[in-house]
Amino acid sequence: MNLILLGAPGAGKGTLAKDLTKIFGIPQISTGDMLREAVAAGTELGKKVKDIMDSGALVPDDLVNAIVREKLARPECRNGFIFDGYPRTKSQAEALENLLKEDGKKIDAVILLDVPKEIVVKRLTNRRICPHCGRIYNLITMPPSKEGICDSCGSKLIMRDDDKEDVVTHRYEVYLEQTAPLIEFYKQREILFTITVQNGDEDVTQMVLNVLKKVRK
Ligand code: AMP
Repeated sequence: MNLILLGAPGAGKGTLAKDLTKIFGIPQISTGDMLREAVAAGTELGKKVKDIMDSGALVPDDLVNAIVREKLARPECRNGFIFDGYPRTKSQAEALENLLKEDGKKIDAVILLDVPKEIVVKRLTNRRICPHCGRIYNLITMPPSKEGICDSCGSKLIMRDDDKEDVVTHRYEVYLEQTAPLIEFYKQREILFTITVQNGDEDVTQMVLNVLKKVRK
């Protein structure tokens, strides 16, 4: 199954992608994670994108499309994949469509996580991540058992630079301007499924599994 998770930063795409990865045994493709890895490793790509990412703006389409092309060619993506944070512009969505077409593939479903702005801002500013294993925590709703330490691997948790409140507000505006138009793009292709989150306590993974039953029939 080939999936796209769409939604504002902090909507819960990463957490959902990790659940779906375990359930379906297909990889998560997070362009944000791949770009952060490039920054951490100090590669040419990493040097080009660091300041852009810290400001909360989007990295140029051609750079992101190139890393996705390379990732999709790997054997682990043969039986399906879950995009988290890609595509983020109409031009990326078109590039992806063409890329998949070359391989005779297509996107089966786009899951839109529709979450109120107050919830995403609160989530992001309280989010802490494990730089080693990628596990995601929330200081209010899902804190680690030992303060500042990952339950899974014992590494020190960090706050992403772009999770600071002023950057978060900018990222939300960028989402509305550049990514939200994809809702209409995928609605037209009749593959968009909306999961409405009202208070943040919902079992989003279960809601998505119910929706996907219709897709996988
Ligand atoms: P994320 O972890 O998905 O929130 O992404 C973190 C940052 O990486 C974003 O604010 C962008 O600067 C950059 N980024 C990730 N994915 C993309 C994408 N598909 N297009 C452009 N920039 C991206």
